Amino acid sequence: MQTHLRIGIIGGGIGGAALARSLDAAGIDYHLFEKASAFGEVGAGVQMTPNAVKVLKALNLGEDLRRMGFLPEAMVGRNGQTGQELFRTPLKTTCPALFGAEFYHVHRADLHAALCRNIPADKATLGLQCTGIVQAGGNAAATFSDGSRFEADLIVGADGIHSVVRDALWGKEPARYTGHMCWRGLVEVDRHPLPFVSPDAAFWMGPKGHVVTYYVKGGAAVNIVAVNENRDWVEESWTVKSTRQELLNGFAGWHDDLAELFRRTDPDQIYKWGLFDRDPMACWSKDRVTLLGDAAHAMLPFLSQGAAMAIEDGYVLAQALAHWGTDVPAALAAYEAERRPRTARVQLEARERGRTYHMSSPDELKKRDQEYKAEQARNPNAVGIKAEWVYQYDATNCRERFEREPGKN
Ligand code: FAD
Repeated sequence: MQTHLRIGIIGGGIGGAALARSLDAAGIDYHLFEKASAFGEVGAGVQMTPNAVKVLKALNLGEDLRRMGFLPEAMVGRNGQTGQELFRTPLKTTCPALFGAEFYHVHRADLHAALCRNIPADKATLGLQCTGIVQAGGNAAATFSDGSRFEADLIVGADGIHSVVRDALWGKEPARYTGHMCWRGLVEVDRHPLPFVSPDAAFWMGPKGHVVTYYVKGGAAVNIVAVNENRDWVEESWTVKSTRQELLNGFAGWHDDLAELFRRTDPDQIYKWGLFDRDPMACWSKDRVTLLGDAAHAMLPFLSQGAAMAIEDGYVLAQALAHWGTDVPAALAAYEAERRPRTARVQLEARERGRTYHMSSPDELKKRDQEYKAEQARNPNAVGIKAEWVYQYDATNCRERFEREPGKN
């Protein structure tokens, strides 16, 4: 369908960039606004699971993934203290056949740069902060800190967990501190060969915490996400610089391989974060404004899906707009019908994974580990973290669903 739409995107993170690229591919005009003065992403890794990779390939980023990504051999669950292997699910050899795409590890900055590559300078304004939303006469406008405003057929809030657009639509409500904080760090492999780090997505599970390690940058660096339960996150900011010593102290008594890795972390690239999430929302859109990514469904990173969901959202929203053309309300209804149930389930199951990974009572641990063993025996390809349903979904088919079941959308 020929469209003459103009879309305003607030926020140029992974979700906003994925939407811009998806709109561009669908031939829909947009302008993106980002409050930071340059596009950028934290120096950390991100797991791109098969569901996200299907979308990235549909957006012609398959070659980029091959170039910048790392294909882990397996997802391996370990006891964080003894190192005992609890499950091992092959990924490299099985994901394309089982889920229709590879499972990649990438550096966030590489992924973000690839998503942004096609955004022309005249379609993005950097260093401009959105302050509010005004809706009137079938149009919406975003207002900005310099007093300017931008009118569009649709404004999309891709402005992250502390979304101003969400506040404007649904009222201000602070995000929920989940009782977890985490360290993120990077170890350059060139400088320090790391024979003790296996080429896997490794989940080290321990009492009241877990650590995930994996290679990024084609194997040139190891990414660390180390999560601890901590009821008293007191920093006003949710991202703060940290140190090797603090990281080591947070995991005293854990396996020697982890301690060795922590000791090699680049001291300039150790951050600690409070982990916040939100409850699923009953509705994302109001008239000509909607939400996407963390602005719509902030979640714990325990299924590695926040960025993946934002990428899926961006693709589906662009396809809905391409399908319904200037009937923006119909496109938004279809977008929400496709996306809200899935993202709500991921939000809630990510919370549940926190409980499973952090068990500390011996009885619970015994039961959990026996279940892993039984599952592994039943089906060696079953994903240890029970995420098959997440990986199977294919956002790139959404157009067929829109066409098949128009009444449902
Ligand atoms: P953001 O990345 O927060 O981007 C929002 C953008 O909007 C920012 O650029 C911001 O500057 C801009 N902005 C904000 N307010 C305004 C405003 N008022 N005006 C203009 N611009 C504004 N996800 C995965 O898929 N896989 C993983 O392996 C994974 N690991 C993770 C590990 C950790 C420790 C954490 C914390 C998260 C992880 N995630 C992962 C989740 C993922 O990082 C986020 O869900 C994802 O980045 C959300 O993208 P977004 O574009 O919605 O929001």
